[in-house]
Amino acid sequence: MARYIGPVCRLCRREGMKLFLKGERCYTEKCAIEKRNLPPGQHGKLRKAKMVGYGVQLREKQKVKRIYGVLENQFRRYFEMADRTRGITGETLLQLLERRFDSVIYRLGLATSRAQARQQIRHGHFLINGKKVDIPSYSMKAGDTITVRGTSAQNASIVHAMEEVKGRGIPEWLQFDAGQLTGRVQSLPTREQINLPVQEQLIVELYSK
Ligand code: SF4
Repeated sequence: MARYIGPVCRLCRREGMKLFLKGERCYTEKCAIEKRNLPPGQHGKLRKAKMVGYGVQLREKQKVKRIYGVLENQFRRYFEMADRTRGITGETLLQLLERRFDSVIYRLGLATSRAQARQQIRHGHFLINGKKVDIPSYSMKAGDTITVRGTSAQNASIVHAMEEVKGRGIPEWLQFDAGQLTGRVQSLPTREQINLPVQEQLIVELYSK
């Protein structure tokens, strides 16, 4: 599947905020946003114009796409799914993204970033309800359990991520038993439980034109 393989800090600088795409580095002073919060490119310093209307909506959509590592067509499909579902479209959109298997692995603290979670999933390190699932976009349901597969418990990236997450915390809609290396989706996340500084309504407005 196509994916963005360029420098990820550039994406944060474009959005002017931390998107937490690079694992632990994002929490250190080496973070590019901490050092130099300017748009990328040689004219970055010159960009002062205040955005309005379409520009603001577009940036909000790009921000969410980049946080979850989803490309345009797939993002559009999530939006269409949210639009067909009863409820507030913007909130449903974020919930669908948050329920992705890679996002849940990241939130459980088994990976330091969603990109790393995608790689671990493709390598078959996890079971959902006892069955191997290697599809990062798999949509988790309330009651699903995630287990680290046998020998994967010693996998260096998983062990390291579990150390790192101690400071990050696990959202209340998820539960994790570090002894059994098992996670559970307690309930689907509400908007208040999705800790993202985005205005999803702007994305709805963009796609509703
Ligand atoms: Fe973004 Fe992380 Fe890079 Fe900072 S270190 S700019 S938060 S990806």
